[in-house]
Amino acid sequence: MAKKSAKKAKKPAKKKPTKAKALAIALHPAIDRGFAKSAKKGFAGGKLTCNCATDPVVVEISSQSAHNHACGCTKCWKPEGAVFSVVAVAPTDKVKVLANEHKLRIVDDNALILRHACTGCGAHMYGPVRREGHPFQGLSFIHTELSKDKGWSPPGFAAFVSSVIESGVPPSKMPAIRKRLKQLGLEPYDCLNPGLMDYLAIGAAKKSGAYRES
Ligand SMILES: [Zn+2]
Ligand SMILES: [Zn+2]
Repeated sequence: MAKKSAKKAKKPAKKKPTKAKALAIALHPAIDRGFAKSAKKGFAGGKLTCNCATDPVVVEISSQSAHNHACGCTKCWKPEGAVFSVVAVAPTDKVKVLANEHKLRIVDDNALILRHACTGCGAHMYGPVRREGHPFQGLSFIHTELSKDKGWSPPGFAAFVSSVIESGVPPSKMPAIRKRLKQLGLEPYDCLNPGLMDYLAIGAAKKSGAYRES
């Protein structure tokens, strides 16, 4: 069919609408076709490179990533057309900019996560939390999809799922989105997952003095 071949000529690498499965709602290129469900043993980090064709920003992460997840918030960086971002953390002292640091700008100085974006391509290279006393202080948010190195911890859940509506996703699509996330093994939550929400609450309880062990 003419229609099909015209499309094929344009973008050969993308979506092949041959199986019914291909009709599943697209969330993010790193997860739409499934992904390795476990991290590589002994993987100790790698390099993140921005999407600039010349003079890319290169950031070295000298540790495995943790808490990797899909995020539906409006602040995390996502590639063109993606509904979710895929974001993890690493200790900030394991993050080092190796090249073209002058291209980085902080997206919002007042945000908890100080997302350092490339002014050339827009990719967020790392986002440290420096807020004194915050439970996430000392961690940096990173996008391991910017790395060619294989072995990073895979996404384990989906956070801030309802927030995709704030990016313009029709609310009517939410049941299909949540269903798809579950199919991919990413339990959908409308904030962070219980482990991280508990961790934040523990931090708050310790600060106020309300914290009890038993
Ligand atoms: Zn760039
Ligand atoms: Zn987010």
